[in-house]
Amino acid sequence: MIADNLERIKSELPSGVKLVAVSKFHPLSVLLEAYANGQTVFGENRPQEFASKAVQMPQDVEWHFIGHLQTNKLKLVLPYASVVESIDTEHLLDAVDAWGARNNKVINVLLEVHIGAEESKQGFMPDEVYEILSRAESGSCWPFVDFCGLMGMASHTDDEEAIAGDFARIKALFDECCSRYTGLKDFKQLSIGMSEDWRIALRYGATQVRIGTAIFGAREY
Ligand SMILES: *Cc1c(COP(=O)(O)O)cnc(C)c1O
Repeated sequence: MIADNLERIKSELPSGVKLVAVSKFHPLSVLLEAYANGQTVFGENRPQEFASKAVQMPQDVEWHFIGHLQTNKLKLVLPYASVVESIDTEHLLDAVDAWGARNNKVINVLLEVHIGAEESKQGFMPDEVYEILSRAESGSCWPFVDFCGLMGMASHTDDEEAIAGDFARIKALFDECCSRYTGLKDFKQLSIGMSEDWRIALRYGATQVRIGTAIFGAREY
């Protein structure tokens, strides 16, 4: 079933759009089944679980951290993460940079943007994104962080127009950032789209989709 789901989704993804299989809450056996069917990019959102899976899975897996990250958990995540997609405060950015400096490793990040309607959603507002990226481009801030793009989650709703509106806003912000900050050479990724809305996200220029339930089935919390 996982194999069928993967195949169906991949057949609809344009070439060049990366599928991040969100495997949070699923046991290792489930990840291994996906891996056996050719899936090598996985996303997890809890530091302890992320680290535990990262050391047990084959070494060529590309790990995306997609959850809220507290600064005291960096050592569980940064040794293994190809990218941290969920940078949501400047404090976290500072801590990631400091960890990178101590460990002589440049950390790839996406800035999480607040696009949905929910009050509680994490993420930066557009003005904060501009401010951070302009400081990053000037070269004086965060030398151990590589800014690779933006991540966002649409409103949790069945209203497709509302979802499309959220994605349109982050796409416009992404395009504006790409044209303003040409010095940020790796700023290329727009991570939008989950199980319920990835087809809509593709219409708004997603370069990565993060899909859990539609691959692995429902999670047990
Ligand atoms: C859980 C999660 C996903 C995947 O959600 P599904 O609806 O199961 O596809 C994507 N992105 C983030 C940030 C998540 O936490």
